Amino acid sequence: MTTVNHHSLPVDDEGYYGRFGGAYIPEVLHHSVESLKDAYYKYVDTPEFQNEFRSLLRDYVGRPSPLYFSPYLSKKYGAKIYLKREDLNHTGAHKINNTIGQILLARKMGKTRILAETGAGQHGVATATVCALMGMECKVFMGATDVARQQPNVERMKMLGAEVVAVESGNKTLKDATNEAIRSWCCDPESYYLIGSTVGPHPYPEMVAYFQSVISEEIAFQLLQREGRENPDYVVACIGGGSNAAGAFYKFIDRPEVKLIAVEAAGKGVDTDETAATMAVGTEGIIHGSRTMLMQTEDGQIVEPYSISAGLDYPGVGPLHAFLAKEGRSQVLSATDDEALKAAYDLTRHEGIIPALESAHALAGLEKLSLKPDDIVVVNISGRGDKDMITYIANMKKYTSDENQA
Ligand SMILES: *Cc1c(COP(=O)(O)O)cnc(C)c1O
Repeated sequence: MTTVNHHSLPVDDEGYYGRFGGAYIPEVLHHSVESLKDAYYKYVDTPEFQNEFRSLLRDYVGRPSPLYFSPYLSKKYGAKIYLKREDLNHTGAHKINNTIGQILLARKMGKTRILAETGAGQHGVATATVCALMGMECKVFMGATDVARQQPNVERMKMLGAEVVAVESGNKTLKDATNEAIRSWCCDPESYYLIGSTVGPHPYPEMVAYFQSVISEEIAFQLLQREGRENPDYVVACIGGGSNAAGAFYKFIDRPEVKLIAVEAAGKGVDTDETAATMAVGTEGIIHGSRTMLMQTEDGQIVEPYSISAGLDYPGVGPLHAFLAKEGRSQVLSATDDEALKAAYDLTRHEGIIPALESAHALAGLEKLSLKPDDIVVVNISGRGDKDMITYIANMKKYTSDENQA
């Protein structure tokens, strides 16, 4: 039976969420993972750690991020729709919340060398940023394909002082970068491996979810001020590895009156070979240290995911989300490339907010809910669209002329 831990997550001492999670790691990393776990529980609730974490979130990241009432979306969908503006954080997305938490922990542990993996480069940039802030060495593993298509983020990481290692194995994308980061950690167990989502062996999924939980803490507080109640009726978030969704859901997980909606990337469609909708098409297995849902063939080979959005292009999903979905606590929807693009141009034209392509999937999820006029809905805008301008420019004509006709 899964119990609720002191941070109110449904996880047991071994890191299991129901039958998902755990820590499936090579022997050589046992000590590193154990000492990480010990350090995390030892420091996280101390006033000193909390004080440093909260101060940096406020003064460096720029929190609290605004909760913006969207008149346009509210009218369009016939409900009260709020946007949680993680796009306004320093470095442009929610990922910085987690890297701040983990870099403080690494410092407490006396670590000076940081390893990280990155797909689109957003987590790499957030990690390189906090390493610059703390004066730590930073090595970021990135698939060679991603290095080529995410050049501005590669340059940002280098400018911040990080070494970017182009990974040439497999399909040369995020999964391969993660494999290489884990391999490199095995060779240098004294370095600190800074994972960017609610994935990996215990305690990472729990720890990352906690560092992101500031999102739902703020939502509750902001809604109380605006609407006289902490609980929205719906929280909607996109889901790659699951960190922004975990942060947006966190405080509401044990409040069944709040509906938790996770939106996966369907790519070209869940019934095509080009998708990243892990919960829709995946099966149970082990990936990157934890038991969860993943996209694999019958003989256990990982299937390469596809999405227009690099941040959602991961073949697994965090064990917390696999559990919440299996229990029926969360509802998992999916949005195609096309639906996400439509939602992105729509928000841009009518609210003046260019969302990240990932966040546009959450916005596209609104189409699939049956909302009532009094419903309060919070959509987590996980990041801003600057990094996606090449894709947006390439699709502009098609989508904005559609809209002009409408
Ligand atoms: C990385 C990223 C995501 C996906 O990661 P999660 O861990 O699922 O949150 C979503 N949105 C943005 C803007 C990202 O950079």
